[in-house]
Amino acid sequence: MSEGRTVPTIIDDNFMVCTDCLMIIANDDASGLAYSLGEEEAEAREREIREAIAEIQREEGQIAVGDSDRDEEFTSRPCACCGMRLAGPRHHCVILGSGRER
Ligand SMILES: [Zn+2]
Repeated sequence: MSEGRTVPTIIDDNFMVCTDCLMIIANDDASGLAYSLGEEEAEAREREIREAIAEIQREEGQIAVGDSDRDEEFTSRPCACCGMRLAGPRHHCVILGSGRER
């Protein structure tokens, strides 16, 4: 009966991203970058993050903000999105598949 309805399924339930990526994923807003970086650096960083997000969405699926209870306050694990290796907080996100069969 429910055929034809596409329910997004979580295909990655442990997609940990840095604070910079989270800002863009959650609010599509990179203005916070300018506080910690110079204007030019912030622009380059934003471009890098948006490219990383676009590639993941093309290859895998939609990135969505996950459960903040699963955030890590401090870890040296690289960001799953932009690959940044600077240790710091990582925020829990998920990747939603389109429901398409591969
Ligand atoms: Zn990142």
